[in-house]
Amino acid sequence: MIDAHCHLEYERFDEDREEVIQRTKKELKAIVTSVAEPKYTEKALEISEKHRGFIFLCLGFHPECLKDFTEKQIEEYMQLIKNLKDKVVGIGEIGLDYYWIKDSKTREETKEVFKQFLELAKELKKPVVIHSRDAEKDCLKILEDFPGKILLHCYSGPPEIPRNLPDNYFVSIPPIIVRSRKHSLLAELTPLEKILLETDSPWLSPTKGRNEPLNIKITAEKIAGIKKIPFEKIWKQMGDNAIKFFDLTKALNL
Ligand SMILES: [Zn+2]
Repeated sequence: MIDAHCHLEYERFDEDREEVIQRTKKELKAIVTSVAEPKYTEKALEISEKHRGFIFLCLGFHPECLKDFTEKQIEEYMQLIKNLKDKVVGIGEIGLDYYWIKDSKTREETKEVFKQFLELAKELKKPVVIHSRDAEKDCLKILEDFPGKILLHCYSGPPEIPRNLPDNYFVSIPPIIVRSRKHSLLAELTPLEKILLETDSPWLSPTKGRNEPLNIKITAEKIAGIKKIPFEKIWKQMGDNAIKFFDLTKALNL
């Protein structure tokens, strides 16, 4: 099983990151950590290098970062991703956030940057991990032209939409499913082959406090209950889905 989306590079893991990784190693095959803010690239790279074959890296650009970056800096960051392409399994998280970004001019700018990163993913032949908050309509519209695999991370739009999307779309469900009826309905409606498990840790904890990769077990248990399918089957299938999505067969020696 694989935690398909988290942020191990954040400060909230600084104190005990190694312990978290070691206890995760006992139960999971891999963790995919996704850089949302470029300033964490170096740290994430270091962590994934240290745990090569267990921690895999995605590099992206959260729409909220736009305010702190010039066009030139974004270009340089994209060049850096190109240079690191062999160390990266996907581009993300990238996307749109209309919850935090209200003004229409900035929204338009984030759309442009989103498109640039999709172009980059296309060029590098990498899958994309999508952040979309209150922006599903625009986000899905922009994604229509993207030919590769797409992971709608912590998708929170209408639950029936992922069911009707083309084969290259997947959704990842976080442990907050235990307290979210929307995510429960999403799990119910989405075919098993299209679901990956994520934690988005340190965020989105199922309880109070910090979230961590091992909590994908909580999600798997909940989905097993919702779909009335044995836990082992969910565990295996969703792990396989993540391996397929990020193309990890070789890297995991499977
Ligand atoms: Zn995230």
